[in-house]
Amino acid sequence: MRVRFAPSPTGFLHIGNARTAVINHLVAQKENADLVIRIEDTDKERSSIESEQSIMEDLKWLGIKWTESPKLGGNFGPYRQTERFDIYKEYTEKLLQSGKAFKCFCTREEVEEDKNLAQKENRPFLDRCRDRSIEEQAKLEAEGKPFTIKFKVPVGETIEFDDQIKGKVSFKSEHIGGDFIIVRSDGFPVYNYIVIIDDTLMEISHVIRGEDHLSNTPKQILIARALGLPEPVYAHMPLLVGEDKKKLSKRHGITSVNIYRNEGYLPEALMNYLGMLGWASESGEEIFPEDELVKIFSVSNLGKSAAVFDFKKLRWMNGQYIKNMDISKLTDLFLPYIKESGFDVSAMEREKLETIISLIKGNCELLSDIGNFLGIFLNEVNEHDEKTAKLLEQDYSADIIKIAADMLAELDESNYAEKLIPGIKEKTENKGKKLFHPIRALITGAMNGPDLELALPLIGFEKIKKRIEFCRDTYLK
Ligand code: GLU
Repeated sequence: MRVRFAPSPTGFLHIGNARTAVINHLVAQKENADLVIRIEDTDKERSSIESEQSIMEDLKWLGIKWTESPKLGGNFGPYRQTERFDIYKEYTEKLLQSGKAFKCFCTREEVEEDKNLAQKENRPFLDRCRDRSIEEQAKLEAEGKPFTIKFKVPVGETIEFDDQIKGKVSFKSEHIGGDFIIVRSDGFPVYNYIVIIDDTLMEISHVIRGEDHLSNTPKQILIARALGLPEPVYAHMPLLVGEDKKKLSKRHGITSVNIYRNEGYLPEALMNYLGMLGWASESGEEIFPEDELVKIFSVSNLGKSAAVFDFKKLRWMNGQYIKNMDISKLTDLFLPYIKESGFDVSAMEREKLETIISLIKGNCELLSDIGNFLGIFLNEVNEHDEKTAKLLEQDYSADIIKIAADMLAELDESNYAEKLIPGIKEKTENKGKKLFHPIRALITGAMNGPDLELALPLIGFEKIKKRIEFCRDTYLK
């Protein structure tokens, strides 16, 4: 079995395409199949090598494992379409010679006119150049007239195939838009034409891609038939949509893989989430690291209807992966985000840093969340947000602040960690939330954060003292 992922290098890797890559990867892992990366770069204006590089980097980061690519090479290269033009030329020649394609000398306006007329008369559009003899075509070409090469869509043919996700799909040749361009006037061949040549020559057995390509498939099959090439098995995945059921776009949230990466999503979580979009495991469980996902995954799991992309769920899943990751690896991953949020931990012992991280990792859904919690340990005094300030302004909080401030005289570095919280508990009448919320806010300057008793010894007495004094001066009148 051989599958492929065929990105067009016209921008960053889109999350929908990343999902196609993940699905092909899972299939390849499961079936021990080859995964080919083919770069479809025939859109001259929009393709760039920078885009290709960034897509390849994102695929690598995501954990996609391919067996052939432009860089890796392989037995079926080259793997960039712009390097395969000689190959396509041969096939174009065959199609022209056999009369299955023709040179079209119409202007855009003429084609438009003919199409409109065909629509009005409710008959399929047939290009006015389609029946010119080869000699006539040669004559017009010799006159220097610009031309495109078009495929002559047969009339009255049914194109049927068994899609592994959609089931039986059937198109009538009259309904696919008429004779279509396979080579532009500048000599560049178009996607729908060369994709099937490449899939065949690269011996791709299964084409698994987004449903947006379903309507292209009959054209590709017609080309295969005209050239006597074998047809791959197709599986068209339903598209990703937002919660409003509209096609996923920037309006809904992040759509570029590189942004997920920068914000501190883990590739493991993204792979898990994308791999399980649109279906559910039998047990209802959702966390499946790659090796387990490979075991339970099958293309036939994928539902027929659009998959809703749930940004919150992905965040949650990322948090789960952060929580369960090996602490040393996680600390390494956090380091750039720590730096970016302005904290300098270069002088801190690694063991202490790992202990701090193990206390706050449960509060982080993204790697970039770390900056929100490190201040609990590292800042002298933390600024209070509105909610925290409001809490500390309450009378029941004043009681706690006063007790803590009075206790400062008897506390020092050696005993504060054991004595502070039990001491406050003993001296106040406050209970439950009225006890624990002000203590947390007083000590950490925030309402959420790590286990206080574990955090205290890591903060240090000097900071605790300053924080209590700050609260005393700010909130006790
Ligand atoms: N290059 C196409 C795209 O990026 C994919 C084509 C295909 O999978 O057949 O949409």
